[in-house]
Amino acid sequence: MEVIHTVEWMKQVARQVRAEGRLTGLVPTMGALHAGHISLIEAARRDASPVIVSIFVNPKQFAPSEDYTKYPRDLEADRQKLEEAGVDFLFAPSVEEMYPTGFRTSVNVEGLADRLEGKIRPGHFRGVATVVLKLLEIAAPQFAYFGRKDAQQARIILQMAADLALESEIVVCPIVREPDGLALSSRNRYLSPEERQGSTVLYRALSRARRAIEEGEREAMKIGALVRKELADEPLAAPDYVEIVDADSFEPIMRLTRSCLVLLAARFGSTRLIDNMQVEIAVSPGGGAGAVTCSL
Ligand code: AMP
Repeated sequence: MEVIHTVEWMKQVARQVRAEGRLTGLVPTMGALHAGHISLIEAARRDASPVIVSIFVNPKQFAPSEDYTKYPRDLEADRQKLEEAGVDFLFAPSVEEMYPTGFRTSVNVEGLADRLEGKIRPGHFRGVATVVLKLLEIAAPQFAYFGRKDAQQARIILQMAADLALESEIVVCPIVREPDGLALSSRNRYLSPEERQGSTVLYRALSRARRAIEEGEREAMKIGALVRKELADEPLAAPDYVEIVDADSFEPIMRLTRSCLVLLAARFGSTRLIDNMQVEIAVSPGGGAGAVTCSL
């Protein structure tokens, strides 16, 4: 695996790869790699060669009050994991390399970026969209891989790619979970043993919603109440939001139809975790609601 630190060299490699007619897959990350990241790399390896992984803790997507300076960084451990995962290039630029003095541009995906995570973390998605667009420009991949764990982020990137007619195809991959259901996240390591135990409530709450939906419940308010009740039973969880939204607009819905998401965010001590479940309700030939699929 070749490690690349500069924008110019990464662009040079990308040009070379394209000239050879090869299909590149890019997996953007902030490092502190876990099996969720590795699943994106595996998806990339199935579609593309070479595979590029970027590691960049992007200051622009952290609000001033957030954990930018204490976000976990361990480039050497990450490098080994990427080597083992069969990655071809690691792109690990410095902040000065990505945002040199005088940098002024930002990308805002209007509407979608202001709700939910964007409301609680002002500027977050502006930072995400800006860095992702720049990474796509630098690495020029045919495919770029993102996790549904960050469902709103994935939706915003898909919108940006469509709006700006980007060359890269955005691929959204399933959530990888611990055996007890907790979605893998670089932030899980901040949880105390008690908080780690308590954090399983997120999966239980989404599973409660799944059971209700599979039993035929379609009222978003009732499903939301079941999820909130489950969260309220865990004393270490301080919920930020529970929302059921249309998968396209991310606006709240009254009744579940077609494609929607149950989204939640909660704090455990100072650690904030998010999770979600995707719900697809097929429309039967007669026009009524058909088979339902809940993906956790
Ligand atoms: P991060 O390093 O947290 O910025 O995440 C980099 C990418 O990995 C993003 O596209 C995330 O959505 C994705 N990701 C993070 N956790 C998971 C997970 N548990 N399962 C699948 N993808 C994930």
